[in-house]
Order: sequence, then structure tokens, then C-alpha cells
Amino acid sequence: MVNSEKSGLPMVDEQSEGRFLVVEVSGPNYTGLKRSALENDLDFLWRDTGYATFGLTTSDHINAMAWAAAQSGVLRVWRQESEAVLSGRTWRPSDTIIQVGDAAIGGNGVAVIAGPCSVEDKSQMMEVAACLRETGASWLRGGAFKPRTSPYRFQGLGRKGLEYLKLASEEYGLPVVTEVMSIEEIEVVCEHSDVLQVGSRNAQNFPLLKALGSSGKPVLLKRGFGCFIDELLHAAEYLMSYGNPQVLVCERGIRSHEPSSRFTFDINAIPVLKSATHLPVVADTAHGTGNVDLVGPIAKAAIAAGADALMFEIHPHPALSYSDADQTLSLEQFAALMPEMAAVAGAVGRRLDGTDRA
Ligand code: PEP
Ligand code: MN
Repeated sequence: MVNSEKSGLPMVDEQSEGRFLVVEVSGPNYTGLKRSALENDLDFLWRDTGYATFGLTTSDHINAMAWAAAQSGVLRVWRQESEAVLSGRTWRPSDTIIQVGDAAIGGNGVAVIAGPCSVEDKSQMMEVAACLRETGASWLRGGAFKPRTSPYRFQGLGRKGLEYLKLASEEYGLPVVTEVMSIEEIEVVCEHSDVLQVGSRNAQNFPLLKALGSSGKPVLLKRGFGCFIDELLHAAEYLMSYGNPQVLVCERGIRSHEPSSRFTFDINAIPVLKSATHLPVVADTAHGTGNVDLVGPIAKAAIAAGADALMFEIHPHPALSYSDADQTLSLEQFAALMPEMAAVAGAVGRRLDGTDRA
């Protein structure tokens, strides 16, 4: 980069390469810059982000760079090939940490999110939440609005499920992660939850992602099981460019030709994401494998590979689960896995969620 923020001139990375020119501009100058770009026939690639950042497509990068650097309020100018602008590390080199109360995802800790696939009743949620407290896991999950492959399967308790989640969360002091499937559900899910989950089947539901941009709550975004890693980042970019900087990206397995498990957990995705984005990376090895015998081993592999959080499906009586029984750990299996994961986390210089207080 030439120039420095101190001198009041923008930092211009003349060595950078790529099709897209990214201009970071301080908020109040955004509109003027946009007008000037239009007058100069520069096409906008990204919309107004609320971060006052936009990108331009042009073939004349040298001139466009010089133009951008000369505009008032411009802080940084660079080129990049990837369209992952706000989620990318050029925009923000240091890791993003998502904080709810005392619980955090990102940073040195490895967080644990656990709970049933579906919220079924109050006593189930209370029993599960008590188990999280005992084992030191910090984040409670459970689906109230369920994206089921067949319309003849349990669709979730809806609002009642959210109420049970919230009761358990308040009783045991655990922040809640739960799925939102449609724009109409956002309000009620926000009232009952700390983190909104976008499921694999909605990973490219762009109207939903745009609407969640202004939800004011962190979003745990799952990878579509047919999506490339790039497409996951582009989905994150929707959330961020529509105003939500609090995004977690989650590897949850992809469809492969291998029939021995329901999905194939893409372990490569963990380090690929860690280097591409500053957003916390979550590993869901329950959906990622679909097989209770694989959940623990692959979770340990994901910690070794650099995951910032793990997500598990657990149930007091797994065989009786209303959904995803095959990948659901019993509370005993989960409790036994926690110290094993703590050992792996320690081996890679990290600390498993709550291991200091468990
Ligand atoms: C879930 O977390 O219960 C879920 C449905 O996950 P996915 O969207 O990854 O299938
Ligand atoms: Mn599930």
C-alpha cells in the first residue's frame, strides 16, 4: 500500500490484482463518491452496504484507481479477484468475534453449540440445557421451524418451540441458536433467539438473506449442500452488504458420490474458509455426516483443522428423536466427547468452550 491513513491520503494497493476494484470510503462521503462514479461511467458492482464500501467493474484499473484515490473521504483502494469483499480478509484482516453475553464464537476458544434437531417439549429442552451447563457447552440449539425434505414429517412446534427454547435458555443462562426459514418468521424468531440460523436449504434464498441483513442479530449461515465454498461466502456477502456484520459461516457437509454416509463433511472447507474470511467458522458434523458414529471423530478433526465452533444434535433419548435420530448423540455420549475434544483443542493451542469452568 502507498500513502497512509496518517497523511490523510487513501491507502492505495497498486500491487493488488483482480477484476474488481474495491473502494472503502468513510460513511458521509459515500453518496458523493457514488455520484462521481456514475458521472465517470464506472459501474457499481456492490450496493450501498452501510459500511460505505462499493466495488466497480472496469477494464481500465489504473485510471479507475487513480480516480478513486483522488475522491474525498476515500480510505483504501485495492483490487481483488474474489467477490467476497466484506467477508474477505483484505477488508478486515483480524478475526471477527461474535459475542452474546459471556459467550463468544471466534478468537482463541472453540465454542460448542448443542441441542436437539427439533424442539419437542419443555422437559426435553430443560434436560438438554442442564446437560450443556454440566459439560460446559455454552450455546443451546433446537429447531422450532423445521425444513423437512418430506411434507409428511414433523415440521416443528413453531412458536411454542421457540418459547420452550427461551425458557431453557433463561433457566440455564445459555444463548440460543435457532433456524429461521422465511421472512415472515424473522420477527418472532428474533424475539426468542440470540443467533438466527439459515439452513442449508435456504443458503441461497437471497430475499431471506437480504431481509436478515437488517435483523440486528448474528446469523449462523450454513453452506448449501450443493454449494461451492465461494457460494457460501457470496451468501455471507448478501447478509453483510445488506447491513449485518455479525455472520458465522458453517460447514455442514455436501452431497458427494459416496453413499456410506448421508452427507460428506468437507474438512478442507475449514482451513479454506479460515484463510478466506475473518468470519467465525462453525463445523456441524451431525448434518455433515448423518451418522452418530462419525460425529465425534469428524468433530475432533474439525477442531484440529481450525474450526471456531462445533454444532451437535443431542437428545435424552436419541432413538425417539422426532427428526435426525441417526446423527443424534445421547447426553452421555456428548458428555464423554467434550473432554476428548478439549484435548484436541489443547493440542492445537486452543481451549474448548467452558473447559475452564466445567
Ligand atoms: C438443522 O440444523 O437442524 C438443519 C436442518 O440443518 P441443515 O440446514 O444443515 O440441514
Ligand atoms: Mn437436524
